[in-house]
Amino acid sequence: MSDIVLEFDRVSAAYSGAIAALHGVSLTLRAGDFAALLGANGAGKTTLLKAASNLLPAERGRITGGQILYRGEDVTRASPDAHIRKGLVPVLEGRRLFRSLSIEENLLTGAHGKGLGRAATARGLEQVYALFPRLAQRRHAVAGLTSGGEQQMAAIGRGLMAVPEVFVLDEPSMGLAPLVVAEIFEALSRLNRETGLTILLAEQNSAIALSHAHHATVIENGRSVLAGPAAELRQRPDIQASYLGGQ
Ligand code: ATP
Repeated sequence: MSDIVLEFDRVSAAYSGAIAALHGVSLTLRAGDFAALLGANGAGKTTLLKAASNLLPAERGRITGGQILYRGEDVTRASPDAHIRKGLVPVLEGRRLFRSLSIEENLLTGAHGKGLGRAATARGLEQVYALFPRLAQRRHAVAGLTSGGEQQMAAIGRGLMAVPEVFVLDEPSMGLAPLVVAEIFEALSRLNRETGLTILLAEQNSAIALSHAHHATVIENGRSVLAGPAAELRQRPDIQASYLGGQ
């Protein structure tokens, strides 16, 4: 159907040394979806997100089967830069900010990657600062000296500067205090609601992910084992125990 923006069609992936990390995972995102990928440590969430932006070769990994379609086009082998130009923007692991640059300089790198002009760049900064007022206050701070929460906000902000249609995020809650995690998820929900941004995010914190996402897919040992509306999965405490490494 035409409103499908991103489709993983039986995607398998492996790392060098033949460590198979994904076994035929299928997942469909429609325009305006907020989807969560849940699973315990090592389940394959990050691998799937990296596959979506063709970032596996940098880790000596590769897609070994299936394909990834973006707006119906096969992007399985497209370069990471091409993904960003098309609007499929990753915000992955460790935030990867330029630590010696200021928050604002980091944000601007997101716009440069996309070749945005001056007016669009200014609009982007305005949008990021409206979403995260804390970043506006800290715009001249050296990124490496800011808090984990501010760094995560800056990483999200930098992604927004690239004008995403689909935002792919890996564990935005990682290492952050609950109040900051709530603030970041609120911001993502707001973006999704108010701008129609399509979001796919991986989370080990299933409670927060299920309270914001519309639907979720649980990955276990590189396979999709369960998928459904977030509201239904929230009613299933057994999921935490069975698949997510919980109690
Ligand atoms: P986490 O939450 O810990 O990131 P995850 O669900 O994202 O877990 P992946 O990081 O995708 O899981 O890992 C899936 C499998 O692939 C694991 O068995 C992991 O050890 C392996 N793996 C991940 N990255 C590499 C790599 N660079 N080289 C070799 N194997 C890897």
